[in-house]
Amino acid sequence: MSIYSVIDRKILIPLGDRLKGRNLHGAFAEALQTEWLSEDRLRELQNEKLRRLVRHCYENVPYYRRVFMERKLRPEDIQDREALAKLPVLTKQLIREHYQELCAEDIRLRPCLEGSTGGSTGTPMRFLEDLETWNKTRGLNLRGWTWAGFQVGEKLFTLAGNSLVDSKENRRKMRVKNLYDRLIMRNLKRDCTDITPEAMAEHYRAMMKYRPAGIRGYASSLYFLARYIEQNQLPVCPVKVVFTTGEKLHPKYRDKIQQVFKAPVFDAYGASDGGLTAHECAMHEGLHLGEEHCVVEIVDREGRPLPDGEIGQVLSTDLNNYAFPFLRYQLGDLAYIRKERCSCGRSHRLLGEVVGREGRAIYNKQGRPYSSIVIDNMMFRNLDIHSEESQRLYEKMDRFQIRQDSNGDLRILIKPVDAGEPLSTFEYIKDNFQTYFPESRVELLFVEEIPPLPSGKEDYCISEYTAF
Ligand SMILES: [Zn+2]
Repeated sequence: MSIYSVIDRKILIPLGDRLKGRNLHGAFAEALQTEWLSEDRLRELQNEKLRRLVRHCYENVPYYRRVFMERKLRPEDIQDREALAKLPVLTKQLIREHYQELCAEDIRLRPCLEGSTGGSTGTPMRFLEDLETWNKTRGLNLRGWTWAGFQVGEKLFTLAGNSLVDSKENRRKMRVKNLYDRLIMRNLKRDCTDITPEAMAEHYRAMMKYRPAGIRGYASSLYFLARYIEQNQLPVCPVKVVFTTGEKLHPKYRDKIQQVFKAPVFDAYGASDGGLTAHECAMHEGLHLGEEHCVVEIVDREGRPLPDGEIGQVLSTDLNNYAFPFLRYQLGDLAYIRKERCSCGRSHRLLGEVVGREGRAIYNKQGRPYSSIVIDNMMFRNLDIHSEESQRLYEKMDRFQIRQDSNGDLRILIKPVDAGEPLSTFEYIKDNFQTYFPESRVELLFVEEIPPLPSGKEDYCISEYTAF
């Protein structure tokens, strides 16, 4: 371990925690302590935390108190993760409708962060992330990095969208966060919204100048960067590891990234709404669920648990979010849990392939690609997600879907919450897209329903345009 890594872990991270009122240092240490728990001990820890959370929901969360009454349930009826199936699934739609009721009555005692997501389902939603969830999931992330031989304090270069990288406008306002990212996390972040060759040239130059030990980002963004490097026959600085997240990692993405960066790829999956984290270990047999801090179930359309090995909807129960509890929260992705345990010896169950996260690009008529996950940036571009205006727009939009036809023209389907809402409320979205797609016809229209795809997956961006 380098001297910087030691100083970072022992001095800088605790200092950053004091500045930001967080406890990353403690959460990381705790994550390392529970890494090798036996299957029984891990199960017991998970069940203990679940029982405590369920009691809290019953006593302090109006939404859940009502759900328990309606189902004639008592907290003691839910002793373990199998019993969770007695409770209903929590959808994004339900969160939108019952936001106030989902806030714990003792919320003033619980520091939390405001979060929002367009998510991969096209249902914009806001929620609260308990600081404990922030701490614990970040602690598990740092642990996941160590599985790839990467230590905190080593230089990291990130190329991603707004789930990992703040917009330029926001970054200007957040001096402390920027300092934290650069000095403590040593993380140079770049926005991947623009993945044109010109933008790739800049990302490449920034990366080469920074000389990171690790690279992190959306799978498609890193694939495009790798392809740019390969096509231009450019040299690459020595890199230990590449971390992908946020999208499905296609085998061709993994192969290309590994081949160009000459480093292994470690995939991860996670969501702050639901407190789920999952990381690949050096065996690459699947993604270990962070089971100390969440309960993951795979269920059918009726919310009934499926046996390991079968693909279904991913539900997550966040064991640390007491401010705004997520019990059996439907993330909108499809996945399965592997029947086999990992040969590394860790007991955390393995998430197999996540089917629901498509990572591909949509192109404008000049051939400029935009990663589909970046659509979120375009839908809410120029808006601070915490601003009142942004919250107001979130509340007004029930669902959305982007459709690009074979001519490259775009239709943005919006299902408004209120059928009487004027289309002009969302006119700004059309302007945003027109900026990125100058020669395409961009049409905004209201729809009554957005049907899911035959696979059952709810994709928020569908493109038939294959001119490039
Ligand atoms: Zn493993």
